[in-house]
Amino acid sequence: MDQIVLDGAARARQLEAELAERVARLRGSLGIEPTLATILVGNDPSSEVYVNMKGAACRRVGLLPRKVFLPESTTTAELLAAIDALNADPTVFGILLQHPVPRHIDERRAFDAIAAAKDVDGVTSLGFGRMALGAEAYRSATPGGIMDLLSWYRVPLAGKRAVVIGRSPILGKPIAMLLLAADATVTICHSRTEGLAEIVRGADVIVAAVGKPEFVKADWVREGAVIVDAGYHKGGIGDVEKAAYARASAYTPVPGGVGPMTIATLMRQTVEAAERTAGLVG
Ligand code: NAP
Repeated sequence: MDQIVLDGAARARQLEAELAERVARLRGSLGIEPTLATILVGNDPSSEVYVNMKGAACRRVGLLPRKVFLPESTTTAELLAAIDALNADPTVFGILLQHPVPRHIDERRAFDAIAAAKDVDGVTSLGFGRMALGAEAYRSATPGGIMDLLSWYRVPLAGKRAVVIGRSPILGKPIAMLLLAADATVTICHSRTEGLAEIVRGADVIVAAVGKPEFVKADWVREGAVIVDAGYHKGGIGDVEKAAYARASAYTPVPGGVGPMTIATLMRQTVEAAERTAGLVG
């Protein structure tokens, strides 16, 4: 069986090259440095790594990263004030609030405080609702990146049985909506799902968004299925057992699959936000 490796790193490099050209044009039209602001609350080491990776991607495409670090003790009110200040700042075109925030903060309220025009990470309730109804909206970055990658490799989705494992607001739920919009027949599974292995065995397309290393076993994967593994754990382990790849017609490697596409999607949506402001797109 010919097997396709859904090479997110390669697709992200190509997207970034296109974005760098668009940003160079934008600088001329805007006359200002287009900025992506990232807010990190607390000292979670992996969140710090993600924020730094996004900063590096900004520099590669020519966007100016602005990192806002807030202490662990930050209150919801203080975080909302920081978001408001960025909403009002005309040099900031996108705002990313790094998930997760400390538990005492009302994360949903904070996400929803991000102005829709600057919600380039696709985290607001309004953006989700618009995306789910097929209206113009910035997509949640990881699901948006997955859909770009599947489309780039022309993976057929219409009429296919897609099984999403996970129902988080930033990943499981939005990817399910986007697969539905692509005419897949979608099943969403979660921690209370009964008979999960059997459900996954019926899938043409499996999206693993569980957050548990090698949770999806090779013998749950039918021959010829497409595996999208959003998980990333120490040592390059995903949410799907590596042994499952041998059965797949296409799969996203870990690392180098979904991760780079998440960042590239964030960059693309920030560039689009800046282009809208510059009047270069509708
Ligand atoms: P999350 O908020 O922790 O959600 C995990 C989901 O998995 C929940 O919906 C949960 O169900 C479900 N789940 C947990 N145990 C299960 C079980 N035994 N059987 C079936 N479902 C189960 O995680 P997330 O933020 O969506 O992230 C998921 C994975 O994607 C993580 O590995 C994360 O690191 C990765 N991720 C990657 C990127 C990237 O850029 N590559 C970005 C974001 C996330 P309940 O709702 O019932 O609790």
